[in-house]
Amino acid sequence: MTSYIEAHEFSGALLAWYDRHGRSLPFRGTKDPYRIWLSEIMLQQTRTASVGAYYERFLAAFPDVFSLAAAKEEEVLKMWEGLGYYSRARNLHQAARVIAAEYKGRFPADYDALRALPGVGPYTAAAVASIAFDLPEPAVDGNLTRVLTRALGIREDASLPSVRRRITEEARARMPRTRRGDFNQALMDLGATVCVPGTPDCEKCPLRALCDAYDNGDPENLPVLPRKTPPITLRYAVLLVLWEGRVYMKKRGEGLLNGLYVYMMTEEEPEAALRRLGIEGGGLTPMGEARHVFTHRVWDMDIYLCEARTVPDALRNDFYTRAEMEALPIPTAMRAARRALTEYWEKTS
Ligand code: SF4
Repeated sequence: MTSYIEAHEFSGALLAWYDRHGRSLPFRGTKDPYRIWLSEIMLQQTRTASVGAYYERFLAAFPDVFSLAAAKEEEVLKMWEGLGYYSRARNLHQAARVIAAEYKGRFPADYDALRALPGVGPYTAAAVASIAFDLPEPAVDGNLTRVLTRALGIREDASLPSVRRRITEEARARMPRTRRGDFNQALMDLGATVCVPGTPDCEKCPLRALCDAYDNGDPENLPVLPRKTPPITLRYAVLLVLWEGRVYMKKRGEGLLNGLYVYMMTEEEPEAALRRLGIEGGGLTPMGEARHVFTHRVWDMDIYLCEARTVPDALRNDFYTRAEMEALPIPTAMRAARRALTEYWEKTS
């Protein structure tokens, strides 16, 4: 473990760099745990550049934990539309309810209590604990892992729990007595802008004089991570089934995109799927193709439009007007189909 002088040198160089080169982001500069928590959840699987607008829009709709706790799930999902990974929004909603009910709306200034909230993992708990409450909790994400494995020359599989623990403790040992949140954010920023994946820009790095990988000439090889399994590709026909000016949509149940509305999707031949459901129509018009990449799945989609003449009674409640459709939470995976339908409606109205 590091000496006090080494730790001081490390954090001093890092914070001095952060003061000059840290990123100015819409969700920075606040100590409000609600805002920090929200931004960290949004940042988990969404690019930083994309988060700002969603963050502002979400805060305008739900400015504090009570307003979020009081919202309906569908309203929360609607505000999350476009960000993907909707379980984050559902957990955010649940956690807001816990904070409102059990903590009188005040976030607990305690890592374990934060960690116990729905959807809050070690990284998010540490980010909120350190940024809002200045607690000495390293926020170990991909950026921090990359910087520390390189700077400290950690050449073991960084996905192993024992190695993650070591990275956490090495970071904690280097944390200053104050500005713990800035320390974490400085490592995130350094990892995002200088110590990037592939070839880092070591000439601009405040840690160069202390960096093991720089001395060794092998930063490109770090962190050591296991090989990823490629995602599975699924092929779907997405059917924009129209009946009496309405479009068929279905709320998805458990699993991927739970709670969101999608158009008719089938892995069968589209004609066969329509026949099986008892939908009689005037043929299928191809409306283009789309691809959506999830973490472990790829959807390749062929989009068709079908003007149905008759639909069985059991399905009639699943057809929505354009205005109703626009109020529903619809995943990004349906963006191309939705655009095709909107253009069609505009042309034919
Ligand atoms: S010197 Fe290079 S490899 Fe080392 S921490 Fe800085 S950017 Fe990363």
